[in-house]
Amino acid sequence: MEFDKGQNPTCIFCGIAAGVTMADVVYDGGDTIFFRDINPKARVHIVGIPKEHITSLAAVADDNLMLLGKLLHDASVVASQQDLGGGGYRVVTNVGSDAGQEVDHMHIHILGGESLGPLRC
Ligand code: AMP
Ligand code: ZN
Repeated sequence: MEFDKGQNPTCIFCGIAAGVTMADVVYDGGDTIFFRDINPKARVHIVGIPKEHITSLAAVADDNLMLLGKLLHDASVVASQQDLGGGGYRVVTNVGSDAGQEVDHMHIHILGGESLGPLRC
């Protein structure tokens, strides 16, 4: 278990991607990984990341477009595996300080398992 090039050893999510930092991993998509949020905001709250260190959606470059599509596709697979398909779920990514982005490694939140209410609540 060690960091790949393209990963940042000081980044907590790179640590999870590299298997150096413990997490409750629910799905490994090869170039993506999904794990339970340590501080869940819904009954089911899973964080999905590309294993490569990309700081946010705003930093996605042309050569990351396949990876971004894969991340979203894997999110739908994870949502099905977590039985969220029937009731539905929300996928969110925070970009920058106004959105409250805490971890500067691009990630999506999958939220579900209950009625989530309006987007801003
Ligand atoms: P954001 O506010 O969009 O940057 O979301 C970061 C999310 O990562 C928060 O919901 C945190 O609870 C979650 N988080 C931070 N560190 C960990 C960790 N080590 N394992 C799982 N989730 C984490
Ligand atoms: Zn990172």
